[in-house]
Amino acid sequence: MYDYLIVGAGFAGSVLAERLATVGNKRVLIIDKRNHIGGNAYDYYNEDGILIHKYGPHIFHTNSEEVFNYLSRYTAWRNYQHKVLAHVDGQLLPIPINLNTINKYYGININSLQMESFLEERAEKVYPVKTSEDVVVSKVGRELYEKFFKGYTRKQWALDPSQLDASVTARVPTRTNKDDRYFTDTFQAMPLHGYTKMFEKMLSHSNIKIMLNTNYQEVINEIAYKKLIFTGPVDEYFDYRYGKLPYRSLRFKFETLDKETFQETGTINYPNDYAFTRITEFKHLTGQKHEKTTLVYEFPEAAGDPYYPVPRPENDQLYKKYAALASQLSNTYFVGRLATYKYYNMDQVVAQALTTFKKIMQTDIPKLTTDDERILESRG
Ligand code: FAD
Ligand code: UDP
Repeated sequence: MYDYLIVGAGFAGSVLAERLATVGNKRVLIIDKRNHIGGNAYDYYNEDGILIHKYGPHIFHTNSEEVFNYLSRYTAWRNYQHKVLAHVDGQLLPIPINLNTINKYYGININSLQMESFLEERAEKVYPVKTSEDVVVSKVGRELYEKFFKGYTRKQWALDPSQLDASVTARVPTRTNKDDRYFTDTFQAMPLHGYTKMFEKMLSHSNIKIMLNTNYQEVINEIAYKKLIFTGPVDEYFDYRYGKLPYRSLRFKFETLDKETFQETGTINYPNDYAFTRITEFKHLTGQKHEKTTLVYEFPEAAGDPYYPVPRPENDQLYKKYAALASQLSNTYFVGRLATYKYYNMDQVVAQALTTFKKIMQTDIPKLTTDDERILESRG
């Protein structure tokens, strides 16, 4: 008899497995239909010995000290500040748009204050800001929107930015300084030995059993368990009762070149050319030294693994119907990017899993005595 059956060995499932096993002293079975742990953050050494991310580039960044400290129990880190260039009109320009972008694109030499008025002159008045188009045109105006955002977004989502929630393009800010980094979070680092090694450490506990290559539906009736934690797609769990939730997929094309480096930054975005959105060169992210280099091209697709929830009002309405069903199940928790249909980064999923664990502690795990607490403290 397992106390918890966890479906999905990505961040959501693995954090909960680790917390329940270590702190809750619960017996956990974690199942994944893939042949590996780590979910979409899985990485491995390819046939040339280069560390690559199977499901596209994963760069860790967070403002949460709690999340960073938690993961630091299972990995050492390599400092890494991600930089991205956008290929626009034959030039490579920093994205997010900043002072360097504007000066290079327009061939001018203005300062931060001048950039503020430069953008004010171009920005369109939009109220309220609702869509992904609104967010950008209200900050930088239509020309930069069309060059940097419109084409990329249409390729990535097969929707016009005006059909997507503001939150999508709001992920990419505008800066009036010269900060060329993609993220400005307090903690920006890559697991020193890769994500998979970190997951192996998290799941290495005598209370945790792992079952791979297994769709939970094949075994759910054979396994004795008390509670279920589900981290797969929520609509799949409920047999698509209200219809399918839209997810966007990607096809990844990997290419290994017989040279040490290919491009000057980790990622280069191609908003207006080609069918792919971006090319990432892994060695920038991992810091690996190797005489060859591996790239990944991301081709957005409608069908395939569900990688991205699609943030727009009608999808949110549909998700709310599934969330209402989910909330009626007292023995089942839904956690993670697919199970809560949220465009979450890794750190947000870790934070959500830690919060869920705290809730579980209050209900499932009996009140601890001071002695218990002392023992748990020593176990971490
Ligand atoms: P997943 O990692 O998707 O784990 C869910 C697991 O459940 C999967 O392994 C799946 O196989 C399993 N599963 C599903 N259904 C079943 C079933 N029926 N039976 C058994 N198992 C099942 N975040 C960042 O912070 N930084 C980045 O740079 C970044 N880049 C990204 C790039 C791409 C291309 C993508 C797609 C995502 C990126 N993310 C990034 C987001 C990140 O991948 C997620 O936030 C995180 O991995 C989600 O973890 P999860 O556990 O919720 O889901
Ligand atoms: N985006 C864009 N141009 C860019 C970068 C991003 O239009 O050069 C938009 C696009 O809609 C994208 C979204 O902003 O899907 C979020 O970008 P992010 O880099 O965060 O995407 P992710 O890494 O999650 O795929």
